[in-house]
Amino acid sequence: MDAPIDELIKKMTLEEKAGFLSGLDFWNLKGLERLNIPSVMVTDGPHGLRKQAQGADHLGLNASVPATCFPSAAGLASTWDQDLIRRVGEALGEEAKTEEVAVLLGPGTNIKRSPLCGRNFEYFSEDPYLSSMMAASHIEGVQSKGIGTSLKHFAANNQEHRRMSVDARVDERTLREIYLASFEHAVKQAAPWTVMCSYNQVNGEYASESYRLLTEILRNEWGWDGVVVSDWGAVNERVDGLNAGMDLEMPGTNGIHDREIVEAVKKGDLTEATIDTAVGRVLGLIQKAVKNQQQTSYDKEAHHRLAREAAAEGMVLLKNEGRILPLDKKASVALIGSFVKQPRIQGGGSSHINPTRVDDVVEEVKKTTGTDRVTYAEGYPLENDAIDEARIEEACTTAAAADVAVLFAGLPDRYESEGYDRKHLELPENHRALIERVAAVQPNVIVVLSNGAPVEMPWLDEVPAVLEGYLGGQAFGGAVADLLFGDKTPSGKLAETFPVRLVDNPSYLNFPGEGDVVEYKEGLFVGYRHYDAKQIEPLFPFGHGLSYSTFEYSSLMIDSHDIDDTEEVEVSVDVMNTGSVEAKETVQLYVRDTESSVIRPEKELKGFAKVSLEPQEVKTISFTLDRRSFAYYNVELGDWQVETGDFDILIGKSSKDIVLKDTIHVRSTTVIPMAIHRNTLVGDLLKNPKTASVMQEFLAENNLFGGMETEEGEMDAMMDAMMANLPLRALVNFSMGAFTEKHLQELIGSLSRRI
Ligand code: BGC
Repeated sequence: MDAPIDELIKKMTLEEKAGFLSGLDFWNLKGLERLNIPSVMVTDGPHGLRKQAQGADHLGLNASVPATCFPSAAGLASTWDQDLIRRVGEALGEEAKTEEVAVLLGPGTNIKRSPLCGRNFEYFSEDPYLSSMMAASHIEGVQSKGIGTSLKHFAANNQEHRRMSVDARVDERTLREIYLASFEHAVKQAAPWTVMCSYNQVNGEYASESYRLLTEILRNEWGWDGVVVSDWGAVNERVDGLNAGMDLEMPGTNGIHDREIVEAVKKGDLTEATIDTAVGRVLGLIQKAVKNQQQTSYDKEAHHRLAREAAAEGMVLLKNEGRILPLDKKASVALIGSFVKQPRIQGGGSSHINPTRVDDVVEEVKKTTGTDRVTYAEGYPLENDAIDEARIEEACTTAAAADVAVLFAGLPDRYESEGYDRKHLELPENHRALIERVAAVQPNVIVVLSNGAPVEMPWLDEVPAVLEGYLGGQAFGGAVADLLFGDKTPSGKLAETFPVRLVDNPSYLNFPGEGDVVEYKEGLFVGYRHYDAKQIEPLFPFGHGLSYSTFEYSSLMIDSHDIDDTEEVEVSVDVMNTGSVEAKETVQLYVRDTESSVIRPEKELKGFAKVSLEPQEVKTISFTLDRRSFAYYNVELGDWQVETGDFDILIGKSSKDIVLKDTIHVRSTTVIPMAIHRNTLVGDLLKNPKTASVMQEFLAENNLFGGMETEEGEMDAMMDAMMANLPLRALVNFSMGAFTEKHLQELIGSLSRRI
C-alpha cells in the first residue's frame, strides 16, 4: 500500500478497477491482495458507533458492538458548543479506532425543512449557518483521530417519504443559501474524507447522478477532493453516477454494476480516465486509513461522562414559571411515566446503536439528591397510545403525594425513525392525558420531553416547567438529574423553531409533496426566516432556552461602520452573569439587510458563541463578519453578492429576543455585468456606478416629460420613482417625438461604452 497511487492504478486491470468502486459487502470496501491493498471498514454513525458484530443490514436490525450513545444531532446542536461537539467527535474517533473502523458514516447535516421529517433527530438545525458549523466541529473531532467521516446526505434529503425516488424541486437561490450552505462550510473547513450522496433526486436528477452537485459544486467550486460514496442503495444508473463524480457504491451489488462499468468502457460510454480518477480517490482514502495507528481500548467511563455533559448542555429549558426549577434536593419527588424506566435515548434506523450502558433515571435522581424520597408510577403503556385509566390514577395518586412530580413524556420509537415521516406533531394521546390529569392534582409538575423533533404542547399552560431533553443518549438520566436539582444550570438553546401548530410551519402545504415531486415553495423562508417574515408567533423561537441565571448584554462595539465587502469587521459585546449561579450563555449574532433589491429574510444567524460565566463575571465576546455574512446568492451572477447599503448587526438571546443593535454600511465591490438594451430600466442604470453619471446627465439635459413637471418636491420624488421603472424605449414612447429611435440607439451606445 506504500506504492504511489498512480502506480497502483497502472497495475490494476479494468475489471479490478471497476470492482474496486463498490463495497465488498455492507460495511467493507474491497481490498486487493495482489497489490497489498487492504479492505477497510465503514460503519454508522453519527452519534455512536454501530459496528455490527455479525450479520449485516443497514437499518440497525442486527446487534452491534457496545459503543457510547451520545445525544443525537438535534440535542448536540442545541448545545451551540463547537468545542463540546469536537470533543464528542474525538471520542467517536477513538471508539472507531478501537473497533478498527476507518470511516464513521456521519454527521448528517440536512436542513430541518419540516418538523415532520422522521430523521430530524439525526440532523442539526433549520439554519444552515448553525448546522454547518456543528457539522464542521463534528468532522474535525472525528478526523483528528485519523478516522474518516461521511458528511451526509448530499443534498436536499429533507424527508423520508419516498426518499429513494422523490424529486426535491428547489430554486437555485434557496438551494445555495439554505440547503447547500448547510454542507458548504463543513466541506470547506473540515474536509470530510467522504461525502455521502443522498437517495433522492434534486431538480430532476438523482443526487447520485448529478454532475452539477458532485463535481461542479462539491469539487470544482468548494475545492474538495474526497470520495463521494453513495447512500446505501442510492445508485440508480451506475455509469451515469461515475460520470457525475459518484466514486464508491455501497453496498456492493455482487458484481452486477461492476460489469456494467466494464461494458460501458468497452462501448465508449465511460472513459478509463474517469474510472482511474475514482479509483485514485478510493485508494487515497484507504491509504489515509491504514496510516492510522491502532488503538486497543478507549476509556468507557470518560466517554460516558462526556455523554452526560453533552446531554446536559443540549437540553433546553423551555419554560420555568415561578422559577420552580431547580428543585430542592430535600423535596419528595414523584417520577412519572414509562420513559423513566425505559428512557427514549436515541432514534430508530441506521444510527441505532448498542449503548455501553444506560443511566437509570431513578438511581440518578437518588444519587443526586442523596435521598430515597423518590417514588415512581408508569402512567402509560409504552407499546401503544391507549389511555390506561388504572395507570393514570396510580400516577395521579403518586404525584399528589409528593412535593413535585417530574413527568417524562415524548415520542415513543414508533413515532419517529429513519424510513418514514411523522403525520402530525402531537404527543401520544396517553402521554397528553397523563400530563393533563397529573397537572390537575399536582401544581408542581415538570415535564421532561424525549423526542427528536418539535411537538405541539396544548397543555403548556397547565404545567409550570418544561425541559426539552431531546434524544439524550445513554447518560440522559444523569443529565436530567444534574439539571433538575441545579448541579448544572441549563444552557441549551433551540436549534429549531417549535411551532404552536403544525399548520404554522412554512412547508405545511408542500410536505411531503405529491407523488414523486416535492416542491420547496416556501423558498428561503425555512424555520425562523418564515416565522419572522410572516410575524407568526412560535411556541418557542429558534435560539430560545432559559437558564437558572440571568445575563446582561452591553457595549456592542463594531470596529468599522463603513467597509468594502472585501473587508472583515470585528464585532464585540460584553455579557455579564447577573444571577447567583455559574451559568453558560449563548450569544447570537444576526445580520439584517435593511434594504435590498431581492427578497431577503428579516435576519439571518451569522455568528454565535457560548460562554461560561461565574456570578457577576463579565466576558467580552468577539465575532468576525466577512463578505459572506452580508451576501445573498445572485442567481444571474452565479455567485454570492453583497448589495451596497446598511446592515443591522443584531445581538440576541434568541431569534426573538434581540437586545442590542447597531448598523454598518457595506459597499459592494462586485461589478454586475450588464447588457444595455431597449428594455434596460432607467433605475438600474442610475444604480450602476458605471452608468449612473451618463444617465443623470442625460435626464438633466433632456426635459423629456416637461409637461408633467411641478415645483413640488413631492412630485419630483414621484417622477423619479416612476422614471426608475421605465425601460429606455419608453423615452421614445412618451416624449411625443422629441426623443427618437435614433436618439435611443445613441444613448444605448454611450451607456454601453461605460460598461
Ligand atoms: C442511511 C445512511 C446510513 C446508511 C448505512 C442508509 O439507509 O440513509 O444514513 O449511513 O444507510 O447504514
